[in-house]
Amino acid sequence: MQAKQAPVRDELTGLRRGAELEALVARCLKSRPGGRLVVLAVAGLDRFHHLNELLGYAAGDAALVEWSIGVTDWLEREAPLPGGVLARVGGDEFGVLWQGCPSVTAGLEAGEALMSRLRRPLRVAGREMFLMASAGLAVTEAGAGDARALIRQTSAAMRRAKRRGGNTLETFRWEESLAPERRYQLETALRQAVSHGEFRLRFQAQVDRHCHLDGLEALLTWQHPEFGSVAPDVFIKLAEEIGAIVEIGDWVMRDACEHITRWREAGLEPPRVAVNVSPLQFSTPDYVQRVERILSETGVSGECLELEITEGTLLRDLQESASRMRALRRLGISIAVDDFGVGYSPLTYLQELPLDAVKVDRAFTCQITKPAGSLPLIHTITVLAHHRGLKVVAEGVETPGELELLQAARCDRMQGYLFGTPVPAEGTEKLLRHPRVLQQRLDSVANC
Ligand code: C2E
Ligand code: MG
Ligand code: MG
Repeated sequence: MQAKQAPVRDELTGLRRGAELEALVARCLKSRPGGRLVVLAVAGLDRFHHLNELLGYAAGDAALVEWSIGVTDWLEREAPLPGGVLARVGGDEFGVLWQGCPSVTAGLEAGEALMSRLRRPLRVAGREMFLMASAGLAVTEAGAGDARALIRQTSAAMRRAKRRGGNTLETFRWEESLAPERRYQLETALRQAVSHGEFRLRFQAQVDRHCHLDGLEALLTWQHPEFGSVAPDVFIKLAEEIGAIVEIGDWVMRDACEHITRWREAGLEPPRVAVNVSPLQFSTPDYVQRVERILSETGVSGECLELEITEGTLLRDLQESASRMRALRRLGISIAVDDFGVGYSPLTYLQELPLDAVKVDRAFTCQITKPAGSLPLIHTITVLAHHRGLKVVAEGVETPGELELLQAARCDRMQGYLFGTPVPAEGTEKLLRHPRVLQQRLDSVANC
């Protein structure tokens, strides 16, 4: 009988290596410990090469060792799930595996807790430093799929998190598990969607504190003749991955501007229209020039537009973001941070960036009425934002109770199903013609 070989450890950190993690994942997927779930995270340090370039490889190695010790310690003492295993799967990439997770929610919470741990500062070469990380997360049933595919999918989610600006967690999505053929079909369809005229904008009302119409958000929809309606959360990310988002983003801005022009020509006075901008779109070098061209070709002035940008994008390169934002604001365009609060970003960026508004994420709005919910947090955000001269917009307002508390917390604008779902351009035109429809709808709800 052959002696069992001891696992080969990573020389630098003493951690398990990729091959051993794969074997462990395979074992977990085969055994079904009481039908419990397997949680796999793959984390990559953001811009680690900068640290090597700045302080040298010895300091880079020291940082990796420190980092590994810290995370191992966290897994043993503080992590929300027991028995987590850390492995070094590449130069600055690590895997964390938990088995026996009781629910998908517990798995997602463990992923978020890991992200919080990864954001703690490190001491390297006598300096305190923040090594931000991006991670992909998969929560899966034992028995579902093979280990290599799971690791590949989780790594793909991690790379997507990096592309979205880093310092963030992405969960593995269904289209990554699509058979290559199916994924190819969807990608091809997406590349042709602009030229085939399959995109439409819908507009959702934003109201001020007195519930008067105060803005519209343009939201993209894709209706494919064969696949039907595909959710933006799915196709936007796919478009980012295949590089189609720049053309799509330009189409969105042009279409929003053309609608503004049409409404104006019909004698209506549309409020400012907010357009979502993908991180990849915003970081193209000629972004400002393209926006300028669209404005001049459609005859719309910048004051009619607000751009919604997620915080990860802005933090990727503060200087560059700030200068691009200043150029956009010189065109009269307002800038809002979308999904504010979900990215664990340092709030100092509110000081450093030329912003006009922050959009509090729906995750906070829907917790505002709960005991020990998000009310104090939203209150703090409004105080902070107002101090900086920024407006606060709350998204996802669904109930009169939420509205009441948001008004009390001095939110400036609100948006959500309570005031109306996103509607096609024709419905929006009706709203612009008869803004009292909104008022009548809300009268039955009180508070306004
Ligand atoms: P977002 O920019 O945060 O947009 C808000 C999303 O929340 C929209 O989903 C909207 O329909 C939904 N929503 C609004 N009010 C409520 C509410 O009261 N309750 C609930 N449960 N949901 C509400 P949608 O249209 O599915 O868009 C999802 C995301 O896709 C958007 O999040 C945005 O990040 C992205 N997206 C949409 N259109 C575009 C676009 O033109 N370009 C880019 N880059 N991204 C877009
Ligand atoms: Mg938005
Ligand atoms: Mg949002």
